[in-house]
Amino acid sequence: MNAQPVLVVGGGIGGLAAALALARKGRAVRVFELGAEFKEIGAGIQLGPNVYRMFEILGLTEAIERWSVHPDFLIMKDALTGDEVTRIPVGGADFRRRFGGYLYGVIHRGDLHTVLLEACRSEPAIQLRENSKGMRFEDSGDRVLLHLENGERVEGCALVGADGLWSKVRAQLFGEAKPRVSGHIAYRAVLPRAEVPGDLWQNNVVLWAGPKTHLVHYPLRRGALYNLVAVFHSDKYEEGWDVFGDPAELEAKFANERPEVQRLLAKINAWKMWVLCDREPIREWSRGRVTLLGDAAHPTLQYMAQGANMAIEDGVVLAACAELSGWDFEKAFRWYQDERYLRTARVQITSRYYGDVYHAAGVVRELRNQMLRERPADPNFSGLAWLYDGIKVPSS
Ligand SMILES: Cc1cc2nc3c(=O)[nH]c(=O)nc-3n(C[C@H](O)[C@H](O)[C@H](O)COP(=O)(O)OP(=O)(O)OC[C@H]3O[C@@H](n4cnc5c(N)ncnc54)[C@H](O)[C@@H]3O)c2cc1C
Repeated sequence: MNAQPVLVVGGGIGGLAAALALARKGRAVRVFELGAEFKEIGAGIQLGPNVYRMFEILGLTEAIERWSVHPDFLIMKDALTGDEVTRIPVGGADFRRRFGGYLYGVIHRGDLHTVLLEACRSEPAIQLRENSKGMRFEDSGDRVLLHLENGERVEGCALVGADGLWSKVRAQLFGEAKPRVSGHIAYRAVLPRAEVPGDLWQNNVVLWAGPKTHLVHYPLRRGALYNLVAVFHSDKYEEGWDVFGDPAELEAKFANERPEVQRLLAKINAWKMWVLCDREPIREWSRGRVTLLGDAAHPTLQYMAQGANMAIEDGVVLAACAELSGWDFEKAFRWYQDERYLRTARVQITSRYYGDVYHAAGVVRELRNQMLRERPADPNFSGLAWLYDGIKVPSS
């Protein structure tokens, strides 16, 4: 029984992190990715100090540092007036000291995925298979059979559904309910540094908060690239993923905002568009020898920039619970979900609230600005502690 691998459906950030965490504990893992290759699209990912501790546990710190950037500040500006609303010093000694020696970071999604993929490839216990779509599973109590689209059946000791927002594993476990469409659309683009006007390039994560819109920018890949994410409300789209957007709609939504915002938006000619969705938090992620991880379990809006961070935490906790349970996966998966569901639910719910704060209009916008500006200094970063202090990984 021990020789049987854990089957992971989905080779995104969460699936690879889980595979790596299990393999580091000596367990064989097979990862099935529907794409023709293991790769990530998209743009930037923000990394809280909470996930840097996970990188350390996974032995990835050095590789991540090779690619990531540490911004000096998270800054919110009012997109109508250009006034600064608030800033958090995430690149300084105080922040590092407060959060166990870790800073805030930003990284290209592709670079993060490559770091995970290379680590998985160098683990003999991990087998990676592309062009392999998981369709359904059978849990017979002492093993799990995964059915692939090509008709093949693969046997394992347990199965982890890391197959994202539209998870088939989740649908089989808990029903086909569709994700919640937020009505918010994200356009993302990455510019080479040379194309960013000098006065608009800065080593900060800057969020321009406008009525029903926001624009975020920050550097990537050691400053060689600049990440732009523009979000606005629209009821034009129901769902979608990785499609090219409509620049005219984007322009219209940001038309009344500051020249800095307009100048950055004008630099882009190839925006990709995401229709942002999440789901209500759930308490049960597991049945028998099958569980969920990452967006399959707790998809969130991106306003706290923590979806991928949570997926990586999931992987580390899942592997710890599995090992400590003596590889009793039924027990381990219940323990894992109990460790994780409230933290990830808090990210899901708080993210919706952050979206409202960023997109406030009228008097609510003025009130937001006043309240954030008048907030007493918080040298201990206490408002962020629940998140950035990170998790206690179960240990013996
Ligand atoms: C605009 C935007 C900005 C974001 N910014 C941040 C940020 O700054 N920080 C952060 O932490 N998070 C951020 N996120 C969230 C983050 O991208 C996700 O939470 C994260 O990618 C989830 O990882 P995952 O591995 O669970 O799922 P996914 O990344 O969706 O990966 C799922 C994988 O499974 C594969 N798959 C699907 N179905 C099957 C199947 N049936 N069989 C086999 N393979 C399958 C897919 O091809 C994919 O490779 C952002 C998201 C968006 C939309």
